[in-house]
Amino acid sequence: MKVAVQKFGGTSLATAECRSQVVEIINSTKSDGFNVVVVVSAIGRENDPYATDTLINLLKEVNPHPPARELDIIMSCGEVISGVLLANQLSSNGIAAKFLNGEQAGILTDDNYGNAHILYVNPQSILTCLENNIIPVIAGFQGMANNGELTTLGRGGSDTTASAIGAALNAEIIDIFTDVEGIMTADPRIVKNARILDAIGYNEVCQLARDGAKVVHPRAIEIAMQSGIPLRVRSTFSDSLGTLVTHLQQGRGNSSYLIKEQLITGITQMSNISRIKVELSSCEEKKGIDLKVFKSLAIAGISVDFINVQPEAIRFTVSVDNTEKALAVLNKINIYPDIEFNCAKVAVVGAAMTGVPGVMAKVMEALSENDIPILQSGDSYTSIWCLLKDEHMEKAVKALHDKFELGNK
Ligand code: ADP
Ligand code: MG
Repeated sequence: MKVAVQKFGGTSLATAECRSQVVEIINSTKSDGFNVVVVVSAIGRENDPYATDTLINLLKEVNPHPPARELDIIMSCGEVISGVLLANQLSSNGIAAKFLNGEQAGILTDDNYGNAHILYVNPQSILTCLENNIIPVIAGFQGMANNGELTTLGRGGSDTTASAIGAALNAEIIDIFTDVEGIMTADPRIVKNARILDAIGYNEVCQLARDGAKVVHPRAIEIAMQSGIPLRVRSTFSDSLGTLVTHLQQGRGNSSYLIKEQLITGITQMSNISRIKVELSSCEEKKGIDLKVFKSLAIAGISVDFINVQPEAIRFTVSVDNTEKALAVLNKINIYPDIEFNCAKVAVVGAAMTGVPGVMAKVMEALSENDIPILQSGDSYTSIWCLLKDEHMEKAVKALHDKFELGNK
């Protein structure tokens, strides 16, 4: 059975006109001989009436810390609304369609509310639809835990739903339809001349996504990579083929997949970060303090980044949402750190940068020419990260994009 999984993001479903466009895409994929499985996100962005953030705010208006179970239930409503609307619009255009929520679609997860992991997919209901020539329209971002409770998959989770279903059905392609033409060398909202990448390897796009390129969820890429299913990021509003994400086949195999090695692939950014600094001179008991700090944070389930341990100080970052919690955890063990709020991380990403001298020098040059102080830096085989003040983030992304000449000429 030849299956295409097509996921549509919030802006692609925002109005009846947008949804007509979506109906047209689904119909034409069907005409090409595919069994189409549709996955939807919630309509719109914050402040739109049915957007996930709007629903969360409704609950938080009266209780800033609602129970995780109820929070997940209200968060999952947006996809139900958009899915039912789309299924209805398909049907009224003479295309048989049926809405399925996460549970009905067989998405089984662990019980980590708000950030659940898909454990497996039981595709029985989806297959029954396909066998009867009915298009299943599935609510993304939600599943069911073993105990029968509804769970949500975290930000960008609909991408993960699409990939997991793609893997379960051994699909030919996973299409991620969104409001941009593809994966670009930087966020086009910041860099106007960002360039679309025609093709990119799974690993590299995973790195871009982990470093903050919100265009596709890193977990979705991992799942597609594990099953070797090509994934395409493309626009609902144009015919362009977008970006093909696949295994790199350098110099071998299908030459259309051949990817020109570029030193730097893209620039990413992530804001809403707090930097925590523990001065050892300020601690009563200095021995084993690093272990104590990281162990307590781990027990509290707080993820840390940008770790830098030196004899005189320990520095690391947490997300703004976790800052209060991290502070409480540290205070409890008599540690009173300095906190720098409003930080951001920018990353220069490129699988080909490994071992190439001068990349860091170029990063420094771009930032210093623009009077942007670096609070901390780090690197791996494929990325160089700089921690900056939030107010410098956009300028830094533009400067790095220019310095590495990544844009359209
Ligand atoms: P959807 O609702 O369709 O899932 P998202 O908002 O999650 O859409 O993802 C699309 C957005 O990702 C774009 O509007 C763009 O601003 C942003 N984005 C960030 N980094 C990149 C990048 N490198 N390439 C393309 N888009 C990016
Ligand atoms: Mg998204």
